[in-house]
Amino acid sequence: MRIGRTLPPAATPLSFGEILSGLRALFSGDRALERFEGELREYYATPHVFLLSSGKAALTVILSALKETGAGRDEVVIPAYTCYSVAAAVTRAGLKVRPCDIDPRTLDYDWARLDEALAGGHVLCAVSTHIFGLPADVERLRERAVRRGVAVVEDAAQAMGGEARGRKLGTLGDVALFSLGRGKALSTVSGGVILTRSATLGAAIDRITKALPREGWCEGVAALSYALALGALVRPGLFWLPKALPFLKLGETVYDPHFRMKRLGPFQAGLAVGWREKLARLRASRLRNASFLERAGLAPPPGEDALVNLIRYPVLVEDVARRRHLIEKSEERGLGVGIAYPEAVTRIPELQGSMASGRAPQAEQVAERIVSLPIHPYLTRDDLERIVALFNEEIGTGGTLHPGEDGNGT
Ligand SMILES: *Cc1c(COP(=O)(O)O)cnc(C)c1O
Repeated sequence: MRIGRTLPPAATPLSFGEILSGLRALFSGDRALERFEGELREYYATPHVFLLSSGKAALTVILSALKETGAGRDEVVIPAYTCYSVAAAVTRAGLKVRPCDIDPRTLDYDWARLDEALAGGHVLCAVSTHIFGLPADVERLRERAVRRGVAVVEDAAQAMGGEARGRKLGTLGDVALFSLGRGKALSTVSGGVILTRSATLGAAIDRITKALPREGWCEGVAALSYALALGALVRPGLFWLPKALPFLKLGETVYDPHFRMKRLGPFQAGLAVGWREKLARLRASRLRNASFLERAGLAPPPGEDALVNLIRYPVLVEDVARRRHLIEKSEERGLGVGIAYPEAVTRIPELQGSMASGRAPQAEQVAERIVSLPIHPYLTRDDLERIVALFNEEIGTGGTLHPGEDGNGT
């Protein structure tokens, strides 16, 4: 066990002022919720905005709304390397997961595999994911989906505040979601947002959402304790402590479709006070850190808009044994280098036998080889230099293969 400066893999600081604003919101009825919703509507120029208890609750509501008009189609195409919550939401909505293989260079779909996945007439919708904040090619998916009557859900869970080719991430699909959970682009401890311009979909989502209970005092106080504890313990000077407590299960990835489905409570809406300015500050600080890693020789992700939107910095390490060693060393030195998701969706044990498709070799390889580097605002220049030094020692920055360099990643 390590005692001393330890970097969390991802972190979004919460200030005391924000926590006070959350507390005030607990006492002021619906005002904070209406304000947050109104600000989102304006910022995204989107008429239909909904606030849920988490990103996975938001995705479940979206899928349930699509299912109502889906004429019996029951499959959801998702990237085979993504957050386990995505698969859990599909199951929760009573639909079938169809994992589709990814391109290891972009972490977006392998487009040849996508065409196969969309064929067959059972696909209700396809999910386009800005993983680690890397903008996915939503337009390319749309072209393929529209002609087959397949809806496009934009999973912008990790990409709130992001932009690609001058357009805001979260406005590119038929409907989109953001997560406000821990370690996301913006965090209110927990929460989820749905955006859509479609009147039909908006009406269906409105109906489903209204039938859900709202988070009340109980969840508010729980989120408050979490915010206070986390606000302190996520700092690098103290993070070794929660990390050492096994029952907190920090950083563990579980597949669990039995999550809470509620509307967001006022405490979290209060925490979001000043979110636009905060997102801009967080983005600037992450970009500074990501640029440092890039200049130090870690190959940048592909695409002109990649670096500016990242919330973690993904790197593929070709040699699986070296990756293991790198992670061990990072743990010893408290550098916050993480593995992201432990397995491809196709390997989630609970889904065996119920998925609409079987293997995704490229996603399975990515799961074995990827590491994610922290770029959050708590990093100092010294931290960054130690991360780079670790890479130089273990791999040599020239030897890393980033999605974006071509070669033997496939
Ligand atoms: C975190 C995440 C989700 C789920 O959001 P929660 O708020 O944690 O439920 C969905 N998709 C992706 C890509 C995520 O990273």
